[in-house]
Amino acid sequence: MKYYAENILLSDGWATDKTLTIENGIITAITPGKSTSSKKISSPEEAIIKLSGTVIPGMVNCHSHAFQRAFAGFSEQSSEGQDSFWTWRKVMYKFLRRLDHNDAQIIASQLYIEMLKKGYTRVAEFHYLHHDVDGKTYTNIDKNTTLATMAQAIFTAAKHAGIGLTILPVLYQYAGFGQQNPNEGQKRFINSTTQFNQLVSDCFTLSKQYQNTNVGIAPHSLRAVDKESIRIAVQHIRALDENAPIHIHIAEQQQEVDDCLTHYKKTPVQWLLENIAVDKHWCLIHATHITEQEQQAIVASKAIVGICPTTEANLGDGIFPTAEFLALNGTFAIGSDSHISISPIEELRWLEYSQRLQKKQRTILATNEQTSVGQNLWQKAAAGGAQSTSTNTGSLAVGKQADLLVLDDKQTRLFANSNQHLLDSMIFASQQNVVKDVMVNGCWVVKNSKHAQEKNSAENFAKLLTRLFTG
Ligand SMILES: [Zn+2]
Repeated sequence: MKYYAENILLSDGWATDKTLTIENGIITAITPGKSTSSKKISSPEEAIIKLSGTVIPGMVNCHSHAFQRAFAGFSEQSSEGQDSFWTWRKVMYKFLRRLDHNDAQIIASQLYIEMLKKGYTRVAEFHYLHHDVDGKTYTNIDKNTTLATMAQAIFTAAKHAGIGLTILPVLYQYAGFGQQNPNEGQKRFINSTTQFNQLVSDCFTLSKQYQNTNVGIAPHSLRAVDKESIRIAVQHIRALDENAPIHIHIAEQQQEVDDCLTHYKKTPVQWLLENIAVDKHWCLIHATHITEQEQQAIVASKAIVGICPTTEANLGDGIFPTAEFLALNGTFAIGSDSHISISPIEELRWLEYSQRLQKKQRTILATNEQTSVGQNLWQKAAAGGAQSTSTNTGSLAVGKQADLLVLDDKQTRLFANSNQHLLDSMIFASQQNVVKDVMVNGCWVVKNSKHAQEKNSAENFAKLLTRLFTG
């Protein structure tokens, strides 16, 4: 198929008057003007479809726990006087006592449709809810264990929504440093090393059946795994895919850093980089509480950092040192994590605003080469997201996957009259959803800001919320 864009953000900058040829989900040519040949059009495939607004690359969401969408907003009332990440986690564990695999699929379908409508075209699902409500492994009708029942719910939801999926089965074994036994609230997350490797292999089998998906792993955090279990998990996935992404929560909370210092005599980032061969396929989620030396060590390892600004604000985690990290040429991606917000625009706005509030300055995350904060952040976060998922996404160029957004020009003309200001205005000044059409892997999944499944999905989701919270 051929698509004509009057205005488009390509990997090397803004361009006008371009025709994109897209075959099997990949951009195979970008040519000037409306047509590459003068021959008469004889089939619909040869017709050139005009894109109705400015085109920008879709955003990759590097960190999602899909089920948490169902209780976003339900933990905003004071319960223990001194609420924190740890009291929020208790609410989450309580909620999980009732949620089965069918519920997980309904929640993920709704979430992924919401993501697409706001401009995320791929999601890295940090998937740790593995077992049934009683903590037992799911079984099929022949009474055989099916470790990937929950993972399959995620694959099915992504297919239903049409979003690209990088599934990261999570290795979770302990309640805290020093191999502490898991508590009651964690029993649905726990797998032995053998079970976990089987789950990862099962996800590779599933991935072959679902288009536009790939598989990585996620050791949950240094408090939930030990060195030997990480080593075995990495060895297993590297035998299946040498480029598979590996994500880990790290240094999100000060208490976690303090506990790590007590147990290992190292901070989490120090310990990880000294004990595990971390490389460009690793994505360190949060990395909130880190020193300058740790930032330098992360950049030297080529790992990227996954920042989740609205969740980190909501949970009271702290502020990632973004300005300093970018000054070192660090690579980052953004994630919606707990889904208190499902908008890449809001994540990037808060990424910049938290720096401004801290430093009492403005336009902090721009560079001499890219003076537009909005454009700098959108392009870097999308490219970092692609790296975090080991996918051919994150920018628009020949050979890249066709994951793109068409912006609503009725809205963009109200807040920007030049490309220099367009993404700044979109991120800092747009009051409504500016994403009009969304293409994933060459297929339209949102048209005129509507998703074909949104009505059904919303009804199922609302019914589920009623049952979970009042039943
Ligand atoms: Zn997380």
